[in-house]
Amino acid sequence: MKILRLLLGDQLNSEHSWFDEVNPDMMYVMAEMRQETDYVKHHIQKVAAFFLSMRNFSEELINKSHQVVYYKISDSNNPHNLEQLILDLVEEYKIEQFEYQFPDEYRLDEQLKSICEKLSIRTKAVDSEHFYTSRNELADFFKGKKQLLMESFYRMMRKKHYVLMVGDQPLDGKWNFDHNNRNQYKNEVPIPFPLEFHKNVSEIIAEIEAQNISTFGSIDAEKFNWPTSRNESLQLIDYFCEHLLAHFGTYQDSLFSGHKFLFHSRLSFAMNSKMISPKEVVDAVISYYYENQETTELAQVEGFVRQIIGWREYVRGIYWKEMPNYAQMNALENQNPLPEFFWTGKTKMKCMQHSISQSLSEAYAHHIQRLMVIGNFSLLAQLHPDAVDAWYLGVYIDAIEWVEMPNTRGMSQYADGGIVATKPYVSSGSYINKMSNYCGSCHYKVKEKLGEKACPFNSLYWHFLDEKKQHFANNQRMSMMLALLRKMKPEELAATKEKAISILEDINNL
Ligand code: FAD
Ligand code: SF4
Repeated sequence: MKILRLLLGDQLNSEHSWFDEVNPDMMYVMAEMRQETDYVKHHIQKVAAFFLSMRNFSEELINKSHQVVYYKISDSNNPHNLEQLILDLVEEYKIEQFEYQFPDEYRLDEQLKSICEKLSIRTKAVDSEHFYTSRNELADFFKGKKQLLMESFYRMMRKKHYVLMVGDQPLDGKWNFDHNNRNQYKNEVPIPFPLEFHKNVSEIIAEIEAQNISTFGSIDAEKFNWPTSRNESLQLIDYFCEHLLAHFGTYQDSLFSGHKFLFHSRLSFAMNSKMISPKEVVDAVISYYYENQETTELAQVEGFVRQIIGWREYVRGIYWKEMPNYAQMNALENQNPLPEFFWTGKTKMKCMQHSISQSLSEAYAHHIQRLMVIGNFSLLAQLHPDAVDAWYLGVYIDAIEWVEMPNTRGMSQYADGGIVATKPYVSSGSYINKMSNYCGSCHYKVKEKLGEKACPFNSLYWHFLDEKKQHFANNQRMSMMLALLRKMKPEELAATKEKAISILEDINNL
């Protein structure tokens, strides 16, 4: 054996040029390792989805006559550590060259560089051929600029990749249809049933349990519904185009207790594990749009495309521009621990109860649940960004650090001091009431700020603004909020702050 090629659990890209030819001197290695299951506590569905997808992928490679050595989590000869794994294989098979695809996580990038330094054979790192952009493209694009505005990055991406363009202008003359995409869902149109795969994954769950891997969240092991193969991922794209795209943008920001997924695609795991590429997803959606213009509006399509060629590539660029310092940032100096109900969903706040319970039962919450409910509460309650980050990284099926951290620590917690978000995403209960049907059935009263049943978001909001006003003193986008704070009567502010402090002191009983 001459060449050893490593495939990490999120490098399941069967379209990679590595697989263009079968070479008898080439061996691929894949391993389910404790170093990956244990660096943070993961949701059980996340561990199961990665292991299943890896096993399916290795089978796919073997069926195409590639040589694969695969270590299951339960294999007694599994070293559970990347360095040991590579060093042992190099020795055992007299490997002459070690190759890997650039990992997307800083931690693994450093580890692989260090492994290569220890090896006395040739080593080579290649692109993962998944993203539209290279690691440093965003940093180059914004060189010399003070603000890293997503919108300007997005427009560059639209032009560069000729997505929804006519000449050098956006299709229909508008770059952004965000204003069309802010509706609350009120049962006007039926929400289609989500595409279900109903796989029995009991065996792999038993293996994970037998290894005493510490996980959380629940799973219906007889009806597992996440895509774990390229074929299932492709089915999910088709399903999205046919059944969900027509209303995606309209209800993209809606919160609704009657449905877990609304019109969201659930494609993030398939993409983040690289079973499908962002280009395949964008191309499929745009082709569908051109073939079905009588039923699909441009606003829906643009809203979706922006998430992928805009936000997804943008946060990846931010991650590589700012790491490793990004992981330590806590610009607002928030220190509070995570309340217990993040692990149980047991709280009287309907919005939090629904969003957290769903995260625990499905390993999924959609963007506005993550940002404007759980993230909003976390920031208002001044929770430590390390604790918030660890929770988000563990709980969601799609959580890999390069995408989770800029979204959580940056966009949602403003811990990066405004690199990603130009102002903190905080609101009182009124925003949640406007975008959801949560408040009507909540124990708390959304219109009240003081008193036993007052919505906690209300006093926490003003308390947060008051506590952090120095940080935002020069932020133009915060000037209106701070002016309202200044206009508050001193006795009203004092009572509001007292209420907020009592909430924070007894946060586990909310
Ligand atoms: P859809 O709503 O159908 O959107 C389509 C696709 O757009 C997604 O699959 C995703 O690939 C992409 N996308 C949308 N918004 C973003 C964004 N802000 N950043 C990157 N990609 C985006 N996404 C992750 O993939 N992993 C994470 O760990 C993650 N953590 C998040 C944490 C917080 C606090 C917030 C606010 C957002 C986070 N997101 C994360 C972004 C977004 O919430 C998820 O991508 C989305 O909810 C996944 O569900 P979906 O596939 O149904 O998305
Ligand atoms: Fe959430 Fe407040 Fe509405 Fe209750 S009243 S659902 S706590 S925003």
